[in-house]
Amino acid sequence: MHYKYDVVVVGGGHAGCEAARATARLGLKTALVTMNADLIAQMSCNPAIGGIAKGHLVREIDALGGAMGEIADATGIQFRLLNTSRGPAVWSPRAQCDKKQYRLRMKEMLEREPNVYLKQGEVAGLLMAQGEGRGRATGVALRDGRTISAGAVVVTTGTFLNGKAHIGEERYSCGRSGEAASQVFSQVLRDAGLRWTRLKTGTPPRLDGRTINWDACEPQVGDAEPTPFSFLTGRIEREQIRCFLTYTSDATRGVIQASLGRSPLYSGQIEGVGPRYCPSIEDKFVKFPDKARHQLFLEPEGVDTNEVYVNGMSTSMPIDVQAAMLGSVGGLENAEMIRPGYAIEYDAVDPRELAGTLEVKKIPGLYLAGQINGTSGYEEAACQGLMAGLNAAAALRGEGPVILGRQEGYIGILIDDLVTKGADEPYRMFTSRAEYRLSLRIDNADERLTPVGRRAGLVNDERWDAFLRKGVQKAALFAALEGGRDGGKQGAWLKRPESKLADIPEWVGGVLEDAILPGVLTTVETEVKYAGYIAQQGRQVAKIAQSSERRIPAGFVFAEIPGLSREVSEKLKLVQPETLGQAARIPGVTPAAISILDVYLRVQHGLQHA
Ligand code: FAD
Repeated sequence: MHYKYDVVVVGGGHAGCEAARATARLGLKTALVTMNADLIAQMSCNPAIGGIAKGHLVREIDALGGAMGEIADATGIQFRLLNTSRGPAVWSPRAQCDKKQYRLRMKEMLEREPNVYLKQGEVAGLLMAQGEGRGRATGVALRDGRTISAGAVVVTTGTFLNGKAHIGEERYSCGRSGEAASQVFSQVLRDAGLRWTRLKTGTPPRLDGRTINWDACEPQVGDAEPTPFSFLTGRIEREQIRCFLTYTSDATRGVIQASLGRSPLYSGQIEGVGPRYCPSIEDKFVKFPDKARHQLFLEPEGVDTNEVYVNGMSTSMPIDVQAAMLGSVGGLENAEMIRPGYAIEYDAVDPRELAGTLEVKKIPGLYLAGQINGTSGYEEAACQGLMAGLNAAAALRGEGPVILGRQEGYIGILIDDLVTKGADEPYRMFTSRAEYRLSLRIDNADERLTPVGRRAGLVNDERWDAFLRKGVQKAALFAALEGGRDGGKQGAWLKRPESKLADIPEWVGGVLEDAILPGVLTTVETEVKYAGYIAQQGRQVAKIAQSSERRIPAGFVFAEIPGLSREVSEKLKLVQPETLGQAARIPGVTPAAISILDVYLRVQHGLQHA
C-alpha cells in the first residue's frame, strides 16, 4: 500500500507533534507515523513542562504559534514561577501536568487538524532519489510493508533508536519502558552515512500513592496565582494540587555504597554518556560525598491516578536495591513501586550533520528534531520539532529558511549550539547559555518571535490580534510614563526596584481603556527598571552582528596574532573560517579570542565588511 503526502513526520513524541501540527497548519498534507498511536506526546520521564530556561523555550514555542504552551496550561495541576528571587531575565514558569490528560489533549488537537493523518507503525526504511549528485529523501517505508512518499521527511524518534534499558544487571532492548526499540531504522540512518553517538538518560521509580506516609513529608504548594505558558491563556482555571518533599537519609547512603558494584553505571555495563546536570541518585552520593542528604520531591502524575513520581531519585540500581533505598527515606518506609526506575541508552546523530534549518546537510529533504539530535527534555525536543516543521514547509513552498539568531531566542541558541558544537552529552537548556539574557525574557517572547511566526504563516489571527493589542497597551503605558501630567513622576517612581504598576491600579486604569493583557505590566516595568542595561545589550548585539560579517582572508595565518593561545590558533587554522561569525562558532574559540581577532583584522588589515 502506498500513500502520498507533502510531509511525513516519523515519531509522535514532543518534537513530532509540533512538527506535524506546524506543517499541517501551513497547508501541507502531513502523515504522522508513530509506533503506538495511543502514546502520542507521552511524557517518558517527569510529568512536568517548563522549569529554568525550559520555561523560556515553551514561551517561545507558543509565541511562534506552537502547541506545547496551550496544552500545558490546559492540563497543569501545579504551577510555579521559578527564580523569582532573582531578576526577571531568569524567571521561568514550570507546571506539573496531568500526564494522561497531556497526551490525550495533544492527540485530540492533532486529530482536529484537517491536514494531519495519523498512522501507527514502525518506520524501517528511508526512500531516496538521486538528484544533483546527492541522494534526496523522498519518503519512508514501514515495517508492515506500507510506504509513504513525501516532499520532506522529519525524523523525531527520541530515545527509541537502538534503545537499551538497564535495571541493575538486567538489560533489554526497548524504546522506553514497555515499548519496543526501533532497531532497523537506526541502521538505515547509519548506512546513509550519518555520524552517531551513544547517549544515556534515566528515570526514577513511580510509587503507589496509597503506600506513602504523606504526614511524614512536607507539603509543597504551587503559586496562588499561576503563571500560564501561553500568551493566549487568560487564567488557569483547573484545580491545583499539592506536592510533597522528603529527604534521603544516612541509611540511603549506606544502601547505595554497599551496592555500587551492582549499578550498571559503575560496573561499566552502561557505555553511553549521561547528562552531568541530571545525575542519578547513586551518582549524587558518589560525586557529592559531603552532602548529608538529598531532596526528593513526590509529584502525583495526575488527578485520577495513584502513581507518584519521585523527582530526584533517578536510578538504574537493581530492583531490590531500589526498594531498600526507598525504605530508608522518611515517609517512604512502606512505599511500593508501581514501576521501577531504569536507565536507557540510545543512538543519537551528531547534530553537526545538520544545517541551521535542521535539515541533514548530506541528505536534502531529511530533517531531524528532538532527542535524536543529542538533546534531552520535552521542551528542547518540541522547539526543534517546530523549527524543523517550519523549515520543511518553507523549503517545499520555495520560501527562505526560518533560522533564529542567538539574540532572538533560546531556540536560536539551542540550534546554533547543536549544529556548531555538537552534543557530547545530552544537551539541555540553561539560562547561562544565553549571551543576552536580559533581552530574552519570558514576558517579551511574543515581541521577539510572534512576528517571525506570523511571517512563516503559523500565527493565526487570534494570536496576532492579542499581540497587537498588547503592543498598543505597552505604547500607551510608555507614553503616559514619559509625558502627561503626572507621567514624569510615575516614570521616576517606577525605576525604583520595589515599585510595581500593580500597586497603582487607578493610575494604570486611567491609562488603559481595556482589561490589562497578560504580561504587559511586567514588560513595561522591566524595560523601565533595566533601561540602561537593555540598551547596552542592544549595542553589543548590533556590534557583534556587524563584526560577525567581517571577512577573514583565505590562507590567513592565525599564529601571527599576538595574544591568541596556541590551542585557539590551531583550531582556527584547522577550520579556516571565512568570517568572524564562523570563527566564533568553533568550539573552544572564546569570545575573548574573537575580540582579539576582530581588533587585529581591523587594525592590521583595515578590512571592510563582507
Ligand atoms: P520521544 O518523546 O521519545 O518520542 C519519540 C517518538 O518516536 C515515539 O512516539 C516513538 O513511538 C516514535 N518512534 C521511534 N522510532 C520510530 C520508528 N522507527 N517508527 C515510528 N515511530 C517511531 N528528559 C529530561 O529532560 N530529563 C530527564 O531526566 C529525562 N529522563 C528520561 C528518562 C527516560 C527513561 C526516558 C525514556 C526519557 C527521558 N527524558 C528525560 C527524555 C524525554 O523523554 C525526551 O527528551 C523527550 O521525550 C524527547 O522528545 P522526542 O520527541 O525527541 O522523542
